[in-house]
Amino acid sequence: MEFLKSHFELKVRQKFFNFIVFRYVLVEWLVRKRYEVEWVKNYSKKIIAKCAKGCSWRIRATPIQGETTFQITSLKGQHVCVRYYNNKHTTIKYLSAKYQDKIRCNSKCAVNEFQNVIRRDLMINVFVAKIRRVKRKGKDEMFGIDMEQYHHLWSYAATIRQTNPDSTVKIKIDTAEEGSQGIFERLYYCLHACKQGSSMAIPIIGLDGCFLKYAFGGQLLSAIGRDDNENMVPIIVAVVEIERFCLRHMYQNFKQKSKGKELKDLFWAAVSARNEIDWKLAMNSLEKASKDAAEWLQKMPPVL
Ligand SMILES: [Zn+2]
Repeated sequence: MEFLKSHFELKVRQKFFNFIVFRYVLVEWLVRKRYEVEWVKNYSKKIIAKCAKGCSWRIRATPIQGETTFQITSLKGQHVCVRYYNNKHTTIKYLSAKYQDKIRCNSKCAVNEFQNVIRRDLMINVFVAKIRRVKRKGKDEMFGIDMEQYHHLWSYAATIRQTNPDSTVKIKIDTAEEGSQGIFERLYYCLHACKQGSSMAIPIIGLDGCFLKYAFGGQLLSAIGRDDNENMVPIIVAVVEIERFCLRHMYQNFKQKSKGKELKDLFWAAVSARNEIDWKLAMNSLEKASKDAAEWLQKMPPVL
């Protein structure tokens, strides 16, 4: 990704994977430099572009004979034009593709914040209305891409079972809706090698989970072991729905009979405990403060 670096410059005889890549690199370079061009020729056999503001700058690239590799064959003149804080090459398509990861990771990013990010990255001022359309397009594409991935799950599971015998792959779908092909609910998989590895590993299993920040949400859960060399070994991976019975709901029930800041703090100390020792210490404190509250919480299952 040399062309993404700030010092990257176009040169004669520079080669690119194909026509698409060359055009992508050229647009990236133009946006970074805040130049604009007119496309004199723009198709798979030839690209000729010249400065849109009338400078002498002009570039020509063609495929190498017998190959799809594109090469710059001519680069003449210089840009002496004024650079503005807008650029016709920063189209909605360009921006939504460039910031796809940002939209994916933080789809609720405020429009003004997104505008500032683009301004800082590209020194380009993009109007709020355009930013909104970029976000909408990015989300639509993200939804489409993610949806497409779910269609491959069955063949992915079949391939794992075929190529990794004794592995476990389970997919749960909701088929309650009539006429529906099924809606993804959960995925669980454990590769045979990981099962074997876990039986030889040091008997410590770590559990972890995180929220998936993509169009459909959910949680990624994993169990990780340690082998004899102290390396981390994945044992199982699961994707599940977001827990519906969250701790806040639990606290709402708890405080109906156990009110007050002290009990509230002790409740959160107990439910936030990461190990058994912390849990017991917190429960002892809670029991001293209110036996009823401790008994109520003790009855709750350790896994929600
Ligand atoms: Zn120019």
